[in-house]
Amino acid sequence: MTDASALVYAHEFITVSDDQISHWEVHDRYRKLPILTGLCPTCGHDCEVEVRDTVVVGGLGASAKDQATPREWTAQIICNCRRDHKQPEGVRGGCGRYWLGRLTKQEGGTYALSTEKNLRLLPAAAALNEALAAQDKRVQYSAEKWLGAVSAIYALFSLTGIATAKDALTGMNAASKWGVALALVAGVTLAVLAVISGYKAAYGWPRAVRVGTENLEDWYDQYQGYAVTAAAQLRVAVFLSLFSLAAIIGVMVLVWFLPRG
Ligand SMILES: [Zn+2]
Ligand SMILES: [Zn+2]
Repeated sequence: MTDASALVYAHEFITVSDDQISHWEVHDRYRKLPILTGLCPTCGHDCEVEVRDTVVVGGLGASAKDQATPREWTAQIICNCRRDHKQPEGVRGGCGRYWLGRLTKQEGGTYALSTEKNLRLLPAAAALNEALAAQDKRVQYSAEKWLGAVSAIYALFSLTGIATAKDALTGMNAASKWGVALALVAGVTLAVLAVISGYKAAYGWPRAVRVGTENLEDWYDQYQGYAVTAAAQLRVAVFLSLFSLAAIIGVMVLVWFLPRG
């Protein structure tokens, strides 16, 4: 082998022919996408790349459970050899070169690897890779934040005190009591929905989706469109909380002014 270890790290795309990766091996795994092993086309060192397609997203779209299983996956394959390439801080290994691979599920259930010819998928595949790498942290973060929503929803039950306080409804006829109850249910329900959409806007609604070649660009569109979705969600939250407030004020007015028999 030439002096490949002297190769300096560079995070850059390389064009690879099918011949260059024909020696790569696809190691099937139970209920998971395979692991790929082979030599990096640039530095020539051993790489071992895990292909993953289940990513947790905050946007809309079908969740993994009701999605058809993809049969083709486009993956950014980044060199992760364990040799020294003078990697910058924070990079664990590899010479940084990456290429696009396509994994295809065969009739018998095994997988075949080839190069991806549609290079327009590169930005989406790179974003998917980053999202996969960051997702454990992200899901943990959003789970912690969602705990706040849970306590906020519990706190809403203090609102029911307006109508359930001792003597609040004493002397009202059945119709008036029903009126108070309906306004209260509406107020609390709207408040719960407001909390949920506010949190959805801020932290997403974490769900797992499977991303294959076919829906890779759709996923990427949603990933980039997060801000737009979040803004709409936030508006919904604000309106819901206003309606909720109106309903709760309604409850108070009813409790104060409904005639007692
Ligand atoms: Zn290397
Ligand atoms: Zn390499």
